[in-house]
Amino acid sequence: MDCKVVTIPGDGIGPEIVREACKVLDKVAQVYGHSFHYNEILMGGCSIDAYGVPLTEEALETARQSDAVLLGAVGGNVGNSRWYDVAPNLRPEAGLLAIRKGLNLFANIRPAYLYKELAEACPLKKEIIGDGFDMVIMRELTGGLYFGERHTEEVDGLLQATDTLTYNENEIRRIAIKAFDIAMKRRKSVISVDKANVLDSSRLWRKVVEEVAREYPEVKLEHMLVDNCAMQLVMNPGQFDVVLTENMFGDILSDEASMITGSIGMLSSASLNESKFGMYEPSHGSAPDIAGKDLANPIATILSAAMMLRYSFDLDKEADAIEAAVQKVLTEGYRTADIMSEGCTEVGTARMGDLIAERI
Ligand code: NAD
Repeated sequence: MDCKVVTIPGDGIGPEIVREACKVLDKVAQVYGHSFHYNEILMGGCSIDAYGVPLTEEALETARQSDAVLLGAVGGNVGNSRWYDVAPNLRPEAGLLAIRKGLNLFANIRPAYLYKELAEACPLKKEIIGDGFDMVIMRELTGGLYFGERHTEEVDGLLQATDTLTYNENEIRRIAIKAFDIAMKRRKSVISVDKANVLDSSRLWRKVVEEVAREYPEVKLEHMLVDNCAMQLVMNPGQFDVVLTENMFGDILSDEASMITGSIGMLSSASLNESKFGMYEPSHGSAPDIAGKDLANPIATILSAAMMLRYSFDLDKEADAIEAAVQKVLTEGYRTADIMSEGCTEVGTARMGDLIAERI
């Protein structure tokens, strides 16, 4: 297969971790007979330095013309960086919002997987962890409360603020279809999370999700109220496979789910549009405190590259190979500094990339 991949190294540790992900992709290409053609664009602080804006129209167009985007991270030290003495729309992170909007990336997928080798870092009790957990949170990314009309006004001498939560059935249907498609590639279970006992938008959500479910008779659908879901995540995380939810609930629940895995350097993510196009990135930021020191954990970005193979290119076998290589390296006791524990071998960013690539 021939694939055009736009890479966005970005700022901080971004270039170091994207380099390692490309190293692993190159090994996949060699072993399985594919070609990945990379085209690098600037986004974030480095684009501000070069062009005065966090994302140029040309860079966005280059991303649009590709088959998938692999992103490191953008941004600097917020309290101490020349990139933040400007209007919010000119700061590095504005590039992220612009590319998500520009590429219509409405479906955000964040896996939360507990490696048994890293179970010590999980804040949950052993009896709750059980055999571990392996879920993905599927969050709607371009609708709901964060994009609704909002204003603050004075009413009868009191300040009053209003935010509106709006979803139309098409916005719900397209994310539900993504969730069921992904469930078909996993354990065939979807838990749809809403607040249908209170909100109209949630009742519409439930109705449309049920309609979509009829097209996927093999997938088991359950509904769960968001407050219950927040509890269940820390009481019985093993019950979840695909969690489907709207923007704000997903924002909160995906952070909760990543927290219980215990390590930010391991968490991948994907944002998809209506077709198979997607942007793949680690869930963490640019970690300016460790940039350029060969200390960054590249695994989240390497696992994001595996998601790219699975969801944009339908290369499931190759994605499995990357995930298995990561598992093997951990089983053999190699760790970057952030996940280091007694008796293991500490390695740097580049060495971790080499070890994973060698095991493909
Ligand atoms: P961060 O995720 O960059 O760092 C938080 C802590 O985790 C730091 O101690 C860091 O060293 C550590 N860490 C993060 N990733 C790591 C890795 N791969 N290996 C080892 N350690 C790792 O969050 P922050 O410090 O709040 O933000 C730093 C910058 O990143 C800010 O400018 C922020 O706006 C930006 N940011 C960007 C993205 C993105 O590009 N998608 C996401 C979040 C934050």
